[in-house]
Amino acid sequence: MNIFQRRESEIRSYSRSYPTIFERAEGARLFDREGRPYVDFFAGAGALNYGHNPPAMREALIAYLQEGGVLHSLDMATVAKQRFLERFEEVILEPRGMDYKLQFTAPTGTNAIEAALKLARRVTKRRNVIAFTNAYHGLSAGALAVTANRHFRHEAWTQRLDASFMPFDGYLGAGVDTLAYLRRSLSDTSSGIDLPAAIVLETVQAEGGVNIARTEWLQGVADLCQQHGILLIVDDIQVGCGRTGSFFSFERTGIRPDLIALSKSISGCGLPMSLLLIKPEHDQWKPGEHTGTFRGNNLAFVAATEALNYWATAEFTAQIAARGAHMSARLHALAAELPEIEAKPRGVGMIHGLEFKQASRCQAVASEAFQQGLIIEICGSGKNVLKFLPPLTIDEATLDAGIDIVRSAVLATAKGSPALTTAPSE
Ligand code: PMP
Repeated sequence: MNIFQRRESEIRSYSRSYPTIFERAEGARLFDREGRPYVDFFAGAGALNYGHNPPAMREALIAYLQEGGVLHSLDMATVAKQRFLERFEEVILEPRGMDYKLQFTAPTGTNAIEAALKLARRVTKRRNVIAFTNAYHGLSAGALAVTANRHFRHEAWTQRLDASFMPFDGYLGAGVDTLAYLRRSLSDTSSGIDLPAAIVLETVQAEGGVNIARTEWLQGVADLCQQHGILLIVDDIQVGCGRTGSFFSFERTGIRPDLIALSKSISGCGLPMSLLLIKPEHDQWKPGEHTGTFRGNNLAFVAATEALNYWATAEFTAQIAARGAHMSARLHALAAELPEIEAKPRGVGMIHGLEFKQASRCQAVASEAFQQGLIIEICGSGKNVLKFLPPLTIDEATLDAGIDIVRSAVLATAKGSPALTTAPSE
């Protein structure tokens, strides 16, 4: 029994899916203690959009440490925070004509959601919040209340109050307009749904199975929010920071959420950082009302400022579009080549899902892929969707190498096929 099995809680999850001990990482690859390389299509669940240890960020961090820069400062003003705020305003907000205040919440995604829900209730003086089927917003008590999956909800043994769930776009099949149900529930005083403080949504449900909301649906939800004085919270924690092709995932729709939660890749290289963007009229906090010791990790600010350089020109957006189109073409070709697995590919930008008819096959493919040198996660309530989430900076050859492993794993897991012994592509 190794030290992890002996001493680390049974709560361990990813160390079970990827049973090795990792030591080094670079770009789109992880290396284990034996020096074995793995292509990373998981990218820290969206925290590593710029890959592992991007050199410019690593150098900026080393320089900051060597200069004796402040590491911990609660929410005091520091030079590192100032630089981040100025660069965020310059590169992200101003070019998009967006006027938002920034709240640095405690370090993880769920903390940004907690802050958003608390603020929305405070502003509107309403209790209820509407969330959607298959939503994932985090696992602290408030965020868990708006997270749909029973696997997470049942472990809490507590009441999850003040949340109502509505069907997400496509939940009832392509022909059913779920927006009509939401619209009627909000306008009908006998719908049983209390008028909510907020509607919280992911434009692409990542943990929920790579479910992509259509532009018209998102615009419809935003209109309903306007009509009823409901705050729209977009949880861009996993699919923000470029994942869908633009910095914010909702840019394709033209909507302007009242509150936007960002985390994961906002810090550039995996350091803990979360923030909430607030339309100025909703910034009704009293000083220090929602506080915490770790709000604003200066090392995260240093790396995050460096990461914003990717967004200073249009080049990066063009690169994501090209890689995304390549992923889509390859996954469609794979599904067509192997009709027996009845896999359905879908995606936008550089988040793609391959839905398998059988969850057991999907899981077998993911573990076989790991054996062949690829890290890839399964998502969806049926645990039957392979989620392709490579770093946005991945080169085409590595992207192809990872997709080749998936193809090889699909073949290797076919009934009666001899186990493949191919080494992972380099
Ligand atoms: N919202 C979304 C959309 C997420 O994907 C996640 C993390 N998977 C969270 C919230 C919670 O973030 P964290 O795990 O950092 O608390």
